[in-house]
Amino acid sequence: RIVYVNGRYVPYADAQVHVEDRGFQFADSVYEVCEIRAGRIVDEARHLGRLDRSLEELRMPAPMAESGLRVVISEVLRRNRVREGTVYIQVSRGAARRDFLFPHEATPPSLVVIARGIDPSKSAKAAQSGIKVITTPETRWDRVDIKTTGLLPNVLAKMAATEHGAKEAWFVDRDGFITEGGSSNAWIITADDRLVTRPAEHGILRGITRTTLLDLAAEEGLAVEERPFTPDEVKAAREAFVTSATNILMPVVQIDGHRIGDGRPGPQVTRLRARFHDIAASRPI
Ligand code: PLP
Repeated sequence: RIVYVNGRYVPYADAQVHVEDRGFQFADSVYEVCEIRAGRIVDEARHLGRLDRSLEELRMPAPMAESGLRVVISEVLRRNRVREGTVYIQVSRGAARRDFLFPHEATPPSLVVIARGIDPSKSAKAAQSGIKVITTPETRWDRVDIKTTGLLPNVLAKMAATEHGAKEAWFVDRDGFITEGGSSNAWIITADDRLVTRPAEHGILRGITRTTLLDLAAEEGLAVEERPFTPDEVKAAREAFVTSATNILMPVVQIDGHRIGDGRPGPQVTRLRARFHDIAASRPI
């Protein structure tokens, strides 16, 4: 297995970043996770666009031009023969003697690209039974719109979910509204067949899968409401699901031990999941 680290393609076991890398010391780093289907990156332009935005918001230099990054990613996929799976891209502000202030502007940012082959039937199987979620208080900082590696609240929330037999934790803000999952966006389908998801302006990461699903919903003329919703609304919903690049649409069948709908993946989320893949496969790079 080969990964890309700072200009070199190296065996996984030999891949290293510096002990004073700012990603390691300050979580001064940003990342993307993209789905790979049939050897292609799903929504590549959107992912690279969001990476660019994360870098800009943090005044972090880009490690290379977007065209170069595309070449590196496809090279990592090729060398690992990954046709189905994910690719992880991480950029940090580089390695420098530990100091809160930004390092000298000549400090090169670190870039790591790791591809992973994943059998897609795993996710398909999970989607047949759906997942359980728990709710947990929102403890993250205010800039969750930036995809940084500062993920400790997400780690703790997802650990708590696992300890409760659930797969995902949904954060609940001080006003009692769900923000999003530890690594996914949250959705419900109401009894009157409306797709509801929190607006991306505040409190969530603007998920690429979320954006593309909104495109699909618009194309199909589905009723969509971008507004916050509460755990009680989830309990009364017809269907619920999460979106993320790693699992696309994943049905949610329980929240805090309460069944949603009849406790099985609903017809609408199942249909949208299938359509999403058709569209992803037909979309140009
Ligand atoms: N929200 C959070 C906190 C995430 O970490 C992720 C993905 O990892 C998402 C939402 C979903 O985003 P995307 O669809 O771009 O994977």
